[in-house]
Amino acid sequence: MRTNQIYFKTPIQRVKMALIDSHGRQINYVRLAVTDRCNLRCTYCMPQHGIDFVRRDDLLSYEEIIRLLKIFKSLEVTKLRITGGEPLVRKDLLPFLKTVTDQGIMPGFHLTTNATLTLPHIQELIDTGLQSVNISLDTLDKQRFIDITRRDHLDDVLASINAFYQLDVPIKLNMVVSKGMNEQDIIPMAEYARHHKIQVRFLEEMPFNGLNEPKSDFMTHHDIKKVLDTHLPDLTPIPFKEGETSQNYQVSGWKGDVGIIASYSRTFCGSCNRLRVTPTGQLKTCLYGKNELSLRTHLRNGSSDKEIAQKIQEAVQKKPVDGFAAEAGRFDTVLESMASIGG
Ligand code: SAM
Ligand code: SF4
Repeated sequence: MRTNQIYFKTPIQRVKMALIDSHGRQINYVRLAVTDRCNLRCTYCMPQHGIDFVRRDDLLSYEEIIRLLKIFKSLEVTKLRITGGEPLVRKDLLPFLKTVTDQGIMPGFHLTTNATLTLPHIQELIDTGLQSVNISLDTLDKQRFIDITRRDHLDDVLASINAFYQLDVPIKLNMVVSKGMNEQDIIPMAEYARHHKIQVRFLEEMPFNGLNEPKSDFMTHHDIKKVLDTHLPDLTPIPFKEGETSQNYQVSGWKGDVGIIASYSRTFCGSCNRLRVTPTGQLKTCLYGKNELSLRTHLRNGSSDKEIAQKIQEAVQKKPVDGFAAEAGRFDTVLESMASIGG
C-alpha cells in the first residue's frame, strides 16, 4: 500500500527516498527537455518565426543534467524520457546519453522526436540505450505535412520510422489532431497500424502554441473517437494501465493498435507518475502548472545533492491532483510553446 510518508536517510536503517506526492502517487518518471530549439515550426507548437529561444548559458549543461539525474535516481526515478524542442538538434546529445547509460544512472531512455534528424543515428541510439521512440507525425500527406510543420521533411520522417521499425524499436506515432487542419488524416494515420506493430495515438490539441491567442476550437477525444468509429466499428478498448495517458483500442486482425490521448480534457491525471524538467532546469510537477522550482538555481548556488533532493521532495508534495487544479493555481494563462516544456 502507498503512503504519503517520505523516508530520509538514517545511519541505522536503509532508507526509502521514493518520491510520493500528497495524493499517494509514486513519481518515478522524468521527462527531460534538453533544448527548446527545433528545426520544425509545427503550427500548434510555435509561431513561424519561432519563440524566444533560451541562451546557451541558460540551458542546463550536460554536466548539470547528469548530476540531476543521479539525484533523481537516488529518489527512485527509473524512467527517463528525452524530449525538447527537438532533442536531436542539441549538440553532443549522443555522447551525453552514452554517459547516462554507461554510468548506470538510468537503465536506458525513451525518446520523443520529430524524426527528421534521427536516420543517421538510429543504431547508435539503440547501442546507447534507446528503449522506445515516440514520433510526432500529423499527416501522411506531403503538402499537409509542409502546411503543419512549415518544413518539407515528410520523407525523412518516414525513412526513420521504417528504420526504427526494421530494428525492432518499439514505436508510438503521435498525431496532434488540429481542427480544420488534419481531421482528414485520422483514418489514414490509423491505417498505419493495420500492417505495422506500432501504436498510433491521436492527441487532443492543447493551448501550448507560443501565441498570445489561445485556440477556441478543439477536437475533443469524443470527436476523435467518433471519426475512428465510422471507419473501425470493432474497436475494442484495452484496459487502462496506471501512469498511461492514452486510452488504447485493439482492432481485430491488425498488427498494431490505436490510442486517444485526452490531453486537453485531462481524463488520465489520476495515476500521473511524472515530473518535467524544462531546458532551463525548471521543475514542473504538472504540464498545466507553473514552474515549481528552479533546479538550475540550486545546481549553481552550491546546494548539496541532499538539499536539492529535499527541494524536489517538497515540490512533489505540492503536485496538484490534476491538470485543472494546476491551471487554477496559476496567475497567468497557459500560452507558452510546448517546445519550452517538452510535451
Ligand atoms: N520535437 C519533438 C516532437 O515533436 O516529437 C519533441 C518535443 S514536442 C514539444 C513533444 C510532443 O508534444 C509531440 O508529440 C508534439 O506533437 C506534442 N505537442 C506539441 N504542441 C502540442 C500542442 N499544442 N498540443 C498537443 N500536443 C502538442
Ligand atoms: Fe518542433 Fe516538436 Fe514543437 Fe513540432 S512539436 S515545433 S517538432 S518541438
